[in-house]
Amino acid sequence: MTPLKHTASAGGGKDIPSDIVRISLPTPFPVGPVNAFLIKTDPPILVDTGPRTDEAYEKLVARLNDAGVRVADLGQILVTHGHLDHIGLLRRLVGESGAQTYAHPFVVDQFADFERSARASEAFFERVMRRLGVPEELLRAALSERSRAHTFAEEVAIDHAIEEGDTVAGLEVLYVPGHSTTDLLFVDRTRRAVFLGDHLLKTITPNPLIRRPAKGTMRPQSLVEYEASLRRTRELDVDVCYPGHGGPFNGQRQVVERLLARLERRTEEVHALLDEHAVSPYELAMRMFPKTNVKILHFALSAAVGHLEVLEQRGMALSEEREGALYYRASKRTGGEGF
Ligand SMILES: [Zn+2]
Repeated sequence: MTPLKHTASAGGGKDIPSDIVRISLPTPFPVGPVNAFLIKTDPPILVDTGPRTDEAYEKLVARLNDAGVRVADLGQILVTHGHLDHIGLLRRLVGESGAQTYAHPFVVDQFADFERSARASEAFFERVMRRLGVPEELLRAALSERSRAHTFAEEVAIDHAIEEGDTVAGLEVLYVPGHSTTDLLFVDRTRRAVFLGDHLLKTITPNPLIRRPAKGTMRPQSLVEYEASLRRTRELDVDVCYPGHGGPFNGQRQVVERLLARLERRTEEVHALLDEHAVSPYELAMRMFPKTNVKILHFALSAAVGHLEVLEQRGMALSEEREGALYYRASKRTGGEGF
């Protein structure tokens, strides 16, 4: 099965506007460095912050200074989504700058009481992992890994909840759920550019992650939703893309096309792994990614569940509940036999 990482080259060679500075920051996560972007307007704008570590903070300050900007100068900070590598330093930066802050409403809620929401999300993952068939010992290790990760962000009062159709600092806001429930794109019509967060990356297949649903809603079908969001992004009329990880790129249409094709191939591969014997999503994740360890368990499970849900939606897989656990098998072919 194709690994999580892949390489792809986007065509084109449009110039990167010089008033946008990419700042690559170290993270303690398997994904590697994360990007923050400085937009050198007056006052300057920052898109994403990096994780809450001293290394990331020091590098961010140094790179801002190189660009002639102090943290205290920042006027607005925009957050693409609520993951810790993108929002971790927000509180510290706001404390030093008094910048106005903007994020999706779920992120505003999540970080208004980060401790409570971190505990709720741990309880959710414990339930979900059990339901997906994760063995008890691995489940324990995964939960302690998660609670460690929560130290890389902290509570922060975000000033503005923003949604599809809003405009912030001249940037249009688009809501593209899938990778998370909180993914926003910031479209800069003047520079013909878009800040993508982790919605679309050139060198990594973004994982539509299993995540806690917003209050009163069902758990979203991440991959089903993600593919719909990608089709919208494909139609954007922009030249330059600024992703949350890796360098800026051009030609998002082709990047989206390749990604959709790759996801489709993986859906077919998952279908080929199913037969009439019911398997748990965990067993299937192990077949897809035999080298899965505790650090990437969430990604592997998310991939398995995501493709199973796509197959189920197409009538190619069936799910069943047994004692609170979920199993999938291939659905018997119907029609085509002359009956
Ligand atoms: Zn990220």
